Amino acid sequence: MKTSIIGYPRIGEQRELKFASEKYFRSEITADELNNVAKQIRLSAFEVQKENKIDFIPSNDFSFYDGILDTAFLLNVIPERYRKLGISELDTYFAMARGYQGEYGDVKALAMKKWFNTNYHYMVPEIDDDTEIKLAGNKPFELFSEALENGVKTKPVIIGAYTFLKLAKYTGSKNVWDFADKIADAYIEILNRLSALEAEWVQFDEPCLVMDMTEDDKKLFVQLYEKILAAKENVKVLLQTYFGDVRDCYTEICSLDFDGVGLDFFEGKKSLELVEKNKFPKDKVLFAGVVNGKNIWKNNYCNTIAAVKKLQKVSKELVIGTSCSLLHVPYTLRNESKMSESYKKHFAYAEEKLSELADLKTIISSDTPNETADYEQNAQLFKQIRYGEDGQVIEKIKALSDKDFVRLPEFAEREKIQKAKLNLPIFPTTTIGSFPQTKEVREMRASFRKGKITEEQYEQFMKDRIAECVSLQEKIGLDVLVHGEFERNDMVEYFGEHLNGYIFTENAWVQSYGTRCVKPPVVWGDISRAKPMTVKWSVYAQSLVEKPMKGMLTGPVTILNWSFPREDISLKESAFQIALAIREEVLDLEANGIRIIQVDEAALREKLPLRKSDWSDYLDWAIPAFRLVHSGVKPETQIHTHMCYSEFADIIREIDDMDADVITFEASRSDLGILDVLKENNFRTEVGPGVYDIHSPRIPSKEEIKTALKKMLSKISADKLWVNPDCGLKTRGNAETVPSLENLVAAAKELRNENL
Ligand code: GLN
Ligand code: ZN
Repeated sequence: MKTSIIGYPRIGEQRELKFASEKYFRSEITADELNNVAKQIRLSAFEVQKENKIDFIPSNDFSFYDGILDTAFLLNVIPERYRKLGISELDTYFAMARGYQGEYGDVKALAMKKWFNTNYHYMVPEIDDDTEIKLAGNKPFELFSEALENGVKTKPVIIGAYTFLKLAKYTGSKNVWDFADKIADAYIEILNRLSALEAEWVQFDEPCLVMDMTEDDKKLFVQLYEKILAAKENVKVLLQTYFGDVRDCYTEICSLDFDGVGLDFFEGKKSLELVEKNKFPKDKVLFAGVVNGKNIWKNNYCNTIAAVKKLQKVSKELVIGTSCSLLHVPYTLRNESKMSESYKKHFAYAEEKLSELADLKTIISSDTPNETADYEQNAQLFKQIRYGEDGQVIEKIKALSDKDFVRLPEFAEREKIQKAKLNLPIFPTTTIGSFPQTKEVREMRASFRKGKITEEQYEQFMKDRIAECVSLQEKIGLDVLVHGEFERNDMVEYFGEHLNGYIFTENAWVQSYGTRCVKPPVVWGDISRAKPMTVKWSVYAQSLVEKPMKGMLTGPVTILNWSFPREDISLKESAFQIALAIREEVLDLEANGIRIIQVDEAALREKLPLRKSDWSDYLDWAIPAFRLVHSGVKPETQIHTHMCYSEFADIIREIDDMDADVITFEASRSDLGILDVLKENNFRTEVGPGVYDIHSPRIPSKEEIKTALKKMLSKISADKLWVNPDCGLKTRGNAETVPSLENLVAAAKELRNENL
């Protein structure tokens, strides 16, 4: 039995690629220097995979920003506005990723979307009627050769043609079918080129196959691969799927001429049933994802071996691997020097997952698997009870009843009360919470953490920052202010640190988009609030001004979705525990004079099951978890929520049903299609669709913001529209933030005058 890896992390063990790219963006290093950093990262990934005797090591899983963007580049899907800049290839690539504003022009970045049900984001390829899909790049070939020079014959990985076409946005009148032939030709050429380099296997990633598929989708998939596979000569093709099962096209997959098929036996609820009931073709190798590629808990060998035994019965040749790319887990436990062994022994990051695969390979091929030392040790671990239970929390959850999930009076009545009390102008302006975090702010947090400065010094420093931020906002003329979130490293980690039941890592960084990484905390035990988490900062900030100061919290679903969750209790149970803890904080803020409280649910959409038929499994606890947080506040207390990305047209009713008073969300990067959806559904929650994109350093002009607002006003009634950027500002600098917000306020004021 062999082992295979779908993809490996690429941001660097110490986030080297992030830091180098950011230096490159600031013109502090050259493209060559950036390339060298990238190369080191690739080579060390090969090394650890070799050490763990992985049989199928991927290449081309590396990316400077995003793999879909790489594929768009490879396939010549580069919109004219970027080509026109006439800058280097690398800079054109980064312009598509981040937007460009400088001496050669002014263009926005491509739209960015969440990668299936993960916290990774991809850049949405844009195809117009003039797009000519053809092979136009060399990256997979160069990276394959680079690996070969370093002694590894890799399995190049490329996003498959079907997934690429499905994820792209069509801005003209053409659709997927108009590009099917051309894209197949390009993939044939890719196969030929790789075969000429003597690649043995090529992996085409087709995660779109785990989504609901229409008859038309299936036809497209079959048509593409009939053509591509008919042309392959000396190279074997692995169709790799992940994040679910392929129940809609299993038959088609089996009848096509793939040499290997990769299925996810972790998230794919029906994968085992599919291969057992329908048989697995004898002429194909089964690549089975049996080690969870998304979470950091150790694999349970006993369960995995039982699953592998079943799979060995149905397949002639079996390769085991992780359920998805290891991009979604951190590099290695070796860099967790502070974590106690009693925790660490339960975890496996990317590198440790490689050694789990190596273990499993040896154990499974042994005559007496249950007697091997590795097996024994693993079995012992799963027999131990992990300390972390809290009887009180469990009791509170049991005692919840329907009324705990309902806020009274109902929305319309509250809206009136709040308008009277808060007395805000129409088109109130606000921000999403965080303000630019300078190096100094980060350093002070680190110094405090390390005990280098006293609590008083730290508090004074933070209060100074808050005061500065508040007076900046007053000067700019915003209506609803924020304290700036300087005390927070991250919107989830910060809360985790103040909650019982969480543990933290030192280096468990996972790429979120481009150079942005997150360090998810780990839900270890039952969750409760240890002490007030944000009250003193919000109260201090409010003491400086008359205007309302928003209290800023992260919601239970987002906290959970951006943590590594437990695998021993349900997500619902964990979410309700967190909700009760945040609820205490909400009530505490209210009791201390905070009139507006924002509970961010940035990641609510993220874990929505990929198939519609499974949605209620999730929404039936996620929406109630949010309601539980705020159902106890007074009618005059205004509850805001914020979501990143406007991809929620299909769950619009459920979003309204969260029963918040105001929701802000991204809208500037996507088309404003969401507005129609709001209108059609008589969305009652007040809304602040983001008027400019904070993921890009670009400064939006007043006119541009006004145009966006006018468009919004054609669909949203004036008394429900808020004016705000599309997300928090912490990754931006003051240089672009201040003029952007000034333009935003000016646009809102002009609009107010016009609407008086
Ligand atoms: N309040 C958070 C901030 O402003 C929200 C961040 C987010 O939505 N990702 O940073
Ligand atoms: Zn956001």
